[in-house]
Amino acid sequence: MRKLRFILAVIVVLALSAVSFAHPGKLDKNGGHYDKETGEYHYHKGPNALETLELRRNTVYKAKILRVVDGDTAIVSFEFDDGSKYQKERVRFLGVDTPETVHPNKPVQFYGKEASDFTKSQLTDKTVWLQTDVGPRDRYDRMLAYVWLKEPSKKDLDDEKAIRKYMYNAKLLLDGYAQVMTIQPNSKYSNLFVHFQREAREAKKGLWGKEPE
Ligand SMILES: [Zn+2]
Repeated sequence: MRKLRFILAVIVVLALSAVSFAHPGKLDKNGGHYDKETGEYHYHKGPNALETLELRRNTVYKAKILRVVDGDTAIVSFEFDDGSKYQKERVRFLGVDTPETVHPNKPVQFYGKEASDFTKSQLTDKTVWLQTDVGPRDRYDRMLAYVWLKEPSKKDLDDEKAIRKYMYNAKLLLDGYAQVMTIQPNSKYSNLFVHFQREAREAKKGLWGKEPE
């Protein structure tokens, strides 16, 4: 009976620790571990533990790109002036979909490699500003954001010229690296993005060009 209680307790602890952090990795006896991405040691328990950032809607966050996963996904860390620490976030760029390159059961799609390489060259190690829409996380707990290459002013957020020039999601569409994909309810720029996509398609840019035989 005591043994059963012990086993149940272990199961509960394992279940709790599985939900308390969004990225995988066992914790050592101090409640910490080494980060697979950066090699840095950090805590998930105790006074120095990282927290999950509670993301607000329609908000711009300054962040550093640690690694680009594919054309429309990256791993970031946040930079706050007060030195507060949060666990890394996986960010899915809103409103766009680049051809698949890393899906375990799907083949690499036409222009997927180009889109992935382009995002790697444009964003790796860069400081960016991540703008949330009305739903800052999806059901996989990923952050959903528009990625700005320079800090946008309040006016820039609704200025087509600024969006064309400094928003990376727009750049992906305008250069033919992505197609429009609205992740509801995040549709702030949907009409504009469809317009950008049409422009790229008419100019036969990137994935709208001819697929090699
Ligand atoms: Zn960790």
